[in-house]
Amino acid sequence: MSIPSIVTPPLSGTFSTESVSNDATDLISISEIFGPTIQGEGALIGTQTIFVRTAGCDYRCSWCDTGYAVLPEFDNDWKNMDAESVFNKIESLSNKQAMWITLSGGNPAMQNLEPLIKLGQAKGYKFSMETQGSIAKPWFALLDQLTFSPKPPSSGMRFKHKGLQRCLDACETLEIINSQTHPDVSLKFVVADQDDLLWAKEIAEQYPQLPCYVQPCNNNADINVDNRSTAENSPYDQKQKMLWLIDAVQSLNWTDVRVLPQLHVWLNVE
Ligand code: SF4
Repeated sequence: MSIPSIVTPPLSGTFSTESVSNDATDLISISEIFGPTIQGEGALIGTQTIFVRTAGCDYRCSWCDTGYAVLPEFDNDWKNMDAESVFNKIESLSNKQAMWITLSGGNPAMQNLEPLIKLGQAKGYKFSMETQGSIAKPWFALLDQLTFSPKPPSSGMRFKHKGLQRCLDACETLEIINSQTHPDVSLKFVVADQDDLLWAKEIAEQYPQLPCYVQPCNNNADINVDNRSTAENSPYDQKQKMLWLIDAVQSLNWTDVRVLPQLHVWLNVE
């Protein structure tokens, strides 16, 4: 896939992102590994997968629903594991049956996941990852699928194009791979309100070759709370948010975007 470069960055705001990284060590900071379950959002929605949730994030989105994988106060629950240990756990959960592995976080781009990806792919597993697009790594090119999920204004974080463009460029870094494959790349935006939606559309229009997904924001979440035990989103809330988003997208005449729910939030499952 050929990924276009940005000519003009017309959007306001900038990141203030610290590029924290675990690359100096072979260990991966892990919050949780679970599955098989289904992917609840984005390009692979409905796909059976095992989740590897890494710990630590360079962002602090106000409505983050995985604060337990972000905030240092939860670090007693985190484990430093080498790639082999993580893959052993994956094999145990999947009964050694090759399937999709979803790398999530936190921000998984803070870790060195290259050894894990190579280990899994050698056994037939496929790797998908979601990251906000603030930290670029050459091993992005190894992934089978990669979703960039820039955070909208309602998150309280600020966006800058250069960070995302560096990440997109990294998907074409071929020095570390022998094949000519690249990950399937897509954009995904969580949308809490009309401002978020307009912002998402403006960014998506810069990347017309990338499939784009929007989904309602789980903005009842609180980054300071372990939402795994305090899910407050009723199916009614989710349905109302979906109906609003469908209507809002249609009002903008935005046709080349897919509107998806957060299926796992709707069903209240991990
Ligand atoms: S929503 Fe994602 S990017 Fe934002 S703080 Fe949570 S894990 Fe980090």
